[in-house]
Amino acid sequence: MPGTALIYCEEATLHDTGDNHPESPLRLEAIRRALQECKVNAPYVRPESATMEDLLRNHSQEHIDAVRAACLDGVEYPDPDTVMCPASWEAALLSAGAGIMAANLILDGQFENAFVMMRPPGHHAEAERAMGFCLFNNIAITAHWLREMGAAKRVAILDFDLHHGNGTQHAFYDDDTVFFISLHEYPQYPGTGFPYELGKNNTNLNFQFAPGSSPMLWINTIEGQAVPTLTAFAPDILLLSAGFDAHRLDPLGNQLLESEHYGQITRMVKHIAGGRIISFLEGGYHLGALGESVAEHVQALMESP
Ligand SMILES: [Zn+2]
Repeated sequence: MPGTALIYCEEATLHDTGDNHPESPLRLEAIRRALQECKVNAPYVRPESATMEDLLRNHSQEHIDAVRAACLDGVEYPDPDTVMCPASWEAALLSAGAGIMAANLILDGQFENAFVMMRPPGHHAEAERAMGFCLFNNIAITAHWLREMGAAKRVAILDFDLHHGNGTQHAFYDDDTVFFISLHEYPQYPGTGFPYELGKNNTNLNFQFAPGSSPMLWINTIEGQAVPTLTAFAPDILLLSAGFDAHRLDPLGNQLLESEHYGQITRMVKHIAGGRIISFLEGGYHLGALGESVAEHVQALMESP
């Protein structure tokens, strides 16, 4: 049975956000080190850049031009959290194309699932603007591509990052072919993602957790609500916005998950869509906890069904 691909390239580390920015190239170094130490020997596959057509399925031309100008021409971008340098442009295109590479590998039967270990992350990026460390919405671009190519009629997206996946929710809010579920801390950045936001076709669900919530609340919500809901939707593929910032050591969050919980969550969702999963790295800012949690996640992805 084919295994797990790690979609990665060095350009992802050249997106330089400056000193003391939590979303730094050190995150990918910590993940690579942890995978090596845990002897996680899944093969690395280099992504291809997203095309303009791929980007335009989720973003306006104005947004794409503004990001390019901010990266390549140093034009100031109106979001102080979202820092860009010249190398960010190529990193952003590769990060946006990496899920499509993963999808092609899974469709060809070369791999069962994939973990996209790229940056910048994506789930906060809106059609018209970059925000919260995210330039393009990598997971939404992949979901659009899957449907456009006829590779999937229905796509399930589960976002277990600490923060609400606002960009992804907005991309598919009234679209009954994509079911989006986000679990997140509230109150917390970006301040969106309420339980009453169900979308026109009841294909949008938000679960909010107060600071200091028990890990069991996360686990029970995924097992008791997210998994049955997404299974009943009968998706052709499951996409994960895999953020690891609900870890108890994370400097941006106030949740209490341990690294092992990320393995547990992965095993709970693995059978949705017959095991066809593309997981996208989103947040996770404590380097040690991030490395450990990703190793747990990828090991669980690699286990035979
Ligand atoms: Zn996050």
